[in-house]
Amino acid sequence: MKVLIVYAHPEPKSFNAALKDTAIQTLKQEGHKVKVSDLYEMNFNPVAQKEDFTELSDKAFFKYAKEQQHSYQNDTLNPVIKEEFEKLLWADFVIFQFPLWWFSVPAILKGWFDKVLLFSGVYGGEYGRYNEARLTDKLAMISTTTGSPEGSYASNGFSGDIHEQILFHINHGMFYFTGMTPLEPFVAYTVSHSEEDRKNYLKEFEEKLKNIEQIKRIEYPKLEAFDENGQLKS
Ligand SMILES: Cc1cc2nc3c(=O)[nH]c(=O)nc-3n(C[C@H](O)[C@H](O)[C@H](O)COP(=O)(O)OP(=O)(O)OC[C@H]3O[C@@H](n4cnc5c(N)ncnc54)[C@H](O)[C@@H]3O)c2cc1C
Repeated sequence: MKVLIVYAHPEPKSFNAALKDTAIQTLKQEGHKVKVSDLYEMNFNPVAQKEDFTELSDKAFFKYAKEQQHSYQNDTLNPVIKEEFEKLLWADFVIFQFPLWWFSVPAILKGWFDKVLLFSGVYGGEYGRYNEARLTDKLAMISTTTGSPEGSYASNGFSGDIHEQILFHINHGMFYFTGMTPLEPFVAYTVSHSEEDRKNYLKEFEEKLKNIEQIKRIEYPKLEAFDENGQLKS
């Protein structure tokens, strides 16, 4: 398998770095090809702006998605974004490694989604959304860490259900929206507290990645299941 790891943590000695390194080592040992986008090391600029394109189709009114389409069709995307886009197309499986910040991804990774999941390159234009988008040949998985404890991420916990409420916007709104099949996330809870827990999490992650086929797929309804108002048919 060709695996892309998109990694977002500012500290190379962090636990997120240890998870990223575990993934690289395990996947290579299992014979997979691995590429890494280390967003902080790349100093990836997450701010969506005119400089993301080497020319603009409309200088009078800047519309980001329209310029994404123009740059995709005319090969005028900023080279950094183009390289990330090509890595994404190369991959069969994309792992996103990040600490949970404000119930979501760090801004640097949010910018990667904004810029790399191109309108007309992966959805829209000749492609649709969800199961009609371009990336239906790919798997995607969140690997994240939290400060709050596991119990708080239950449906009656003070954070909210980790799958249905916290990570849904990523699995559904970013992965599945662009066609990718989300795998059940790997979550390491409250990683600052216990060295023993951290060692166990690293071991658990390693075992998971040795058996990618066994990781549960998250299934969302296909577009055909919805009516013209975008609502599930009864
Ligand atoms: C802006 C912001 C927003 C946040 N929002 C939320 C939120 O919404 N919800 C929430 O739950 N939390 C939140 N947090 C907390 C955050 O999720 C945690 O701080 C983060 O997940 C911890 O992961 P880390 O990699 O940064 O840990 P680190 O602090 O880097 O690592 C924890 C410990 O692991 C050790 N370690 C490193 N490598 C290894 C190794 N190989 N083996 C064993 N131990 C190792 C480190 O030395 C350290 O002692 C937020 C934090 C910030 C800064």
